[in-house]
Amino acid sequence: MDVAEFPPQAALIGNQWIDTGATLEVEAPARAETVTRIARCGADHVDEAVATARHAFTGELGEWARWSARQRSAWLYAFAEAIETHHENLSALECLDTGKPLTQARADIKACAHYFRFYAGGADKLHGETLPFEEGYTVLTLREPYGVCAQITPWNYPAQIFGRCVAAALATGNTVVLKPAEDACLSVLSLAKLAVESGLPPGVLNVVPGLGHEAGAALAAHPAIDHLSFTGSPETGTQVAQAAAEHHVPVTLELGGKSPQIVFDDADLESAFDAVVRGIIQNAGQTCSAGSRLLVQRGVSETFIERLAERFSALRCAPGEEDADCGPLINARQKARLDERLARAKADGIRVAAKGQLDERASPAGHFVVPHLLTEIPDGHTVLREELFGPVLAVQIFDDEAQAQHLANATDFGLCAGIWTRDGGRQLRLARGIRSGQVFVNNYGAGGGVELPFGGVGRSGFGREKGFEGLRSYTRIKTVALRHG
Ligand code: ADP
Repeated sequence: MDVAEFPPQAALIGNQWIDTGATLEVEAPARAETVTRIARCGADHVDEAVATARHAFTGELGEWARWSARQRSAWLYAFAEAIETHHENLSALECLDTGKPLTQARADIKACAHYFRFYAGGADKLHGETLPFEEGYTVLTLREPYGVCAQITPWNYPAQIFGRCVAAALATGNTVVLKPAEDACLSVLSLAKLAVESGLPPGVLNVVPGLGHEAGAALAAHPAIDHLSFTGSPETGTQVAQAAAEHHVPVTLELGGKSPQIVFDDADLESAFDAVVRGIIQNAGQTCSAGSRLLVQRGVSETFIERLAERFSALRCAPGEEDADCGPLINARQKARLDERLARAKADGIRVAAKGQLDERASPAGHFVVPHLLTEIPDGHTVLREELFGPVLAVQIFDDEAQAQHLANATDFGLCAGIWTRDGGRQLRLARGIRSGQVFVNNYGAGGGVELPFGGVGRSGFGREKGFEGLRSYTRIKTVALRHG
């Protein structure tokens, strides 16, 4: 499939595309070839973008501050439609830039449009409250936007996360300075271009592409931002949270995971099987909510693992455009890291029960790592604790519910868990007993569920995005107490 149009090689500030005087190469990970370039912003561009976003918020620049919730809602609806109109070009960019299968890229663009539509519906439905208090007072809460929202986003779901963060922030009346990931941001830049063409007032959405330690660090440490939302690795999350703490900027962190899928003897094994495979090969395992650990009860373990081995052996890796089971990893660094972890696992005696295959259409230069099914893993081994961010499923066998819960919780992360059982009591006990932000019972991921709040506990981060909760998280409460005698 042809990529119809690359986005501008510039930063978007105040609805102008600014030439930053420096660019970065954009590599297609399936071929390890440069396909275009993006702008490289420095601290001065970030300064300008934050000042511009401030002026837009206060009303000194364009009409955004005067838009009613209903007007913002109308724009969000219109933008969702514009995204759908440009669906194929955006999907092709996402597929090329991330390497993910085209079907997945298309689903991501659809989800991005859905975020704008969902938050369009929520924009005029958030409200404060009046509170009972002492005689002679009326107390009410106002729900206000933060102001300038800084957003630092990753390369694994560029368009979806754009939708999740930008739609919620704009719906609630904030303005945004977005630093997308240098490894994949073509769809984000194209979406920003489309937002301007769809009539978004100047300065409301500003995009400063560039390197993490340059533009990203400058944005996280900026004294004039009012809120910071970060999605990425736990290590970088710590850095940005520390930088934001310097100026007491509230932060939402959406970090990694090491999520278990727990399959009991009494489960609907057909559904569990499909979800377990999908949960780890989607986006080549480069998903914070990947189901990267399988806990399977002893009674069904042998047949379940055998079937998995058969399926894993048949999985094919190819460039995203070929729409195979898995695309490449995002870059050479991620591939080298995963190759090293797999070599170490083998050296430690872990069994590779099955491996996928490289399709003949896959270039040897591409950053491919075939899916791996790992069994016979010593307790506490790194492959059970570390987020590998690749198509690697680590299998453990358990005997009873208590052991399943113990193993599921044996992680510093706490993002998702899948529970597969027909026993209603057990479903509820585990849903409560597992330490994570999301628990899926007899499904995994609820189809992406734009409507469902999402976030972590522990090393997976804090704060919630998505759903109505995500909308609230871009507002703060002001209490007004009126004494009227
Ligand atoms: P990865 O290591 O997989 O690239 P990161 O968590 O480092 O993931 O990247 C997520 C986002 O954070 C990207 O947009 C990246 O540019 C940005 N980033 C990386 N380092 C920093 C930093 N020191 N300060 C702010 N943002 C950063």
